[in-house]
Amino acid sequence: MTNTDKQSIEARIDARIHETLDHWIEQLGRLCAQPSISAQHLGIDECAELTATMLREQGYSADILPTGGSPIVFGERAGKSEKTLLFYNHYDVQPPEPLELWNSPPFTLTRVGDTLYARGVSDDKGQLITRMAAAAAVRDVLGEIPVSIKYFVEGEEEVGSPNIPGGIAAYKERFAADGCIWEFGSVDYSGRPEQTLGMRGLCYVEFTVETAKLDCHSGLGGSLIANAAWRLVWALSTIKGPDERIRVPGFYDNVRPATERDMAYLASQPDHSDEFIATYGVKGFLLGRKGGVELRRAAVFEPTATINGLTSGYQGPGAKTVLPAYASAKMDFRLVPDQTPEEIVPLLRAHLDAEGFEDVAVRYVAGVKPARTDPDDPFVQMSIQAAEDVYGMTPIVEPLIGGSGPLHPFIHELGLPVVTSGCGHPESRVHAPNENIRIPDFINGIRHTARIITRFADL
Ligand SMILES: [Zn+2]
Repeated sequence: MTNTDKQSIEARIDARIHETLDHWIEQLGRLCAQPSISAQHLGIDECAELTATMLREQGYSADILPTGGSPIVFGERAGKSEKTLLFYNHYDVQPPEPLELWNSPPFTLTRVGDTLYARGVSDDKGQLITRMAAAAAVRDVLGEIPVSIKYFVEGEEEVGSPNIPGGIAAYKERFAADGCIWEFGSVDYSGRPEQTLGMRGLCYVEFTVETAKLDCHSGLGGSLIANAAWRLVWALSTIKGPDERIRVPGFYDNVRPATERDMAYLASQPDHSDEFIATYGVKGFLLGRKGGVELRRAAVFEPTATINGLTSGYQGPGAKTVLPAYASAKMDFRLVPDQTPEEIVPLLRAHLDAEGFEDVAVRYVAGVKPARTDPDDPFVQMSIQAAEDVYGMTPIVEPLIGGSGPLHPFIHELGLPVVTSGCGHPESRVHAPNENIRIPDFINGIRHTARIITRFADL
């Protein structure tokens, strides 16, 4: 096929996407109307059923695969070639509260001008519909999809995907593929598409210390017995210093620095440091860092130790002269390749013991491994080029982002290169009231996904 033929096919697919737009907005409304709040296990099984039904309506075989928690919806349809593209998405959503801040009912898709509002419309039901709409448009124009398609739609992404590594191990053969489109894609404020190639990992822990059977009068015990709050803050103060260096021996052993190529991608990203400072009302960045590539490197290629919350003693009105017997803190550590959450807890334990804090317990709560896809993979380069063609702008390539997700088993167990495409924008308000997408972004997300499908066949 000549390049002109390919261009005319892509133009026909674009036209088909526009013709079927209303249908897919309706389907999005249908999916958003089914609440599926994983944090409360509300509507989860119903939404898994609905997702499977919608896939079957489009000619996919769809199974609901049980896991230790919410099921995975697995859809499959053979294409012209055995080359297989896998879509990772999730059908669960965050709770809609606070309800009074919504301008429309969260589980009713509401259109205002070119904007669609509903819980999950961006994260992640709208993204899932862009996959369905793209594959349908390609099929309508070409008669059949040139590659085989698999859908992997989970129901616990919003609670940390605890059953995904196990689910992938259990059904590994079924998920075999050659490339993966991740659950999200977005444009930035200027409309440039973002291509995300990696995510940091996470190790979430809780520290607790109990120094006595019960709280004590501070006049009675202050000179005599240990205060749990002091024990905890002293222990925490040994974990990170004011220089921002994490002082746990061995913590940095597996950290891989950014490569030259990563630095080049970071250098080509727009500088949003002033907006960031304005948004949060801060005086500046840690360590006196200014905007620029070094700030962007530190933002994602350095691991963090963040105290999320501290609890002890009395903080109500007035004064209560109490010596607390109990204190606790929650912390998250954002991890970079090749750190693992599993290695962090024993390092913390050994460190606390060495510092004289055997009385401070540390408990692993949750975690995921960091992961990145190879930027030189032809599939990744193809997706970047396809985005450029659709949006008419050079994509922002993010070698790693600060957030975390269950990316690791897709890259390292299933061996897939992973790219992003989709319909988000910077004010999509994901997880917040009035979650939304804009119809032009929805169309471009479908177009980009459709180009990945057709060009993947030629790779
Ligand atoms: Zn989310």
